[in-house]
Amino acid sequence: MKLTFLGTGTSVGIPVIGCHCEVCQSADSRDQRLRTSALIEEKGVRILIDCGPDFRQQMLREQVEALDAILFTHAHKDHTAGLDDVRPLNDKRGGPLPVYAEERVLRALESQYPYIFSEHDYPGLPAIETQRIRAGVQFSVGELKVLPVRVMHHKLPVLAYRIGGLSYITDANRVDEESLSLMQGSRVLVVNALRKKWHLSHFNLSEALRLIERLNPERAFLVHMSHGMGRHEEVQKELPLGVSLAFDRLSIVI
Ligand SMILES: [Zn+2]
Ligand SMILES: [Zn+2]
Ligand SMILES: [Zn+2]
Repeated sequence: MKLTFLGTGTSVGIPVIGCHCEVCQSADSRDQRLRTSALIEEKGVRILIDCGPDFRQQMLREQVEALDAILFTHAHKDHTAGLDDVRPLNDKRGGPLPVYAEERVLRALESQYPYIFSEHDYPGLPAIETQRIRAGVQFSVGELKVLPVRVMHHKLPVLAYRIGGLSYITDANRVDEESLSLMQGSRVLVVNALRKKWHLSHFNLSEALRLIERLNPERAFLVHMSHGMGRHEEVQKELPLGVSLAFDRLSIVI
C-alpha cells in the first residue's frame, strides 16, 4: 500500500497570508504545507482522505487522474472545501464518485453544497454517491477494507481510519481506550500535531508523541501542522527515532 501526503498543513496552510515568521518565509519546500489530505493506493484502488480547499492543486501536482472514493474525517471546511472540483473526475469516470462519511458529515455536506444535493439536476454539477458509514463498522472500497475509528476533536466526534497496517488520525486531541485498541498493531501511524503549544481541539507535539509511544508503531508521521510547530529541519532533529514530520508530496510504502 502506498500513502502520499497531499497536504500536511493546518486549516490556513503554510505560509499563512500576511505572516512574516521564519516558517512562513522559509525557502525549504518542506515548510510549505497545503491543507491536510492523503492519497492511499493499493491493488489498483485509489482512496482520497478528505477533500480540502487545495484538492485541485493536489490532484494536478501528483498527476492523479482518477479516484475510487473519498473518505471524510469530519466536515470542517479545510477538509471539505474542494468537493466542487471532483467534476473533471466525474467526466473521467463517466459517473458519480463514491463519498464515504458518517451521518452528521453527510448532513453538513448537504448544507455546504445544496446544489450538489438539489433535486433540480443540471449538467455540469459535481456528481457524488454518498455512502453512510459508522465508527467501528468496517466497509470495503474494491478489495480494500477500511475501518472507521472514533476519535474526538475537542467536543466534535470525528473519524480516524484503519486501513491494513495504517492508522490515520487527523483533527483529534483525544482517543479513548476502545479506539486505541482498534489501532493497536499499526505499522504506520499518521497523527495530527498542530504546534508545540497546547491547543483546545488538536494534539500538540508532546501529546502526539505520547499517543505514538502508546501505540508504538514502526513509523509515525505528524500532519496538520501550523507555523507554530517551527521549521521542519529544526523540529525533525528533536523527534524520537521512527517519528517524522510529514511534508507535502512525501510518499511511503506500507
Ligand atoms: Zn483540519
Ligand atoms: Zn508564519
Ligand atoms: Zn477540524
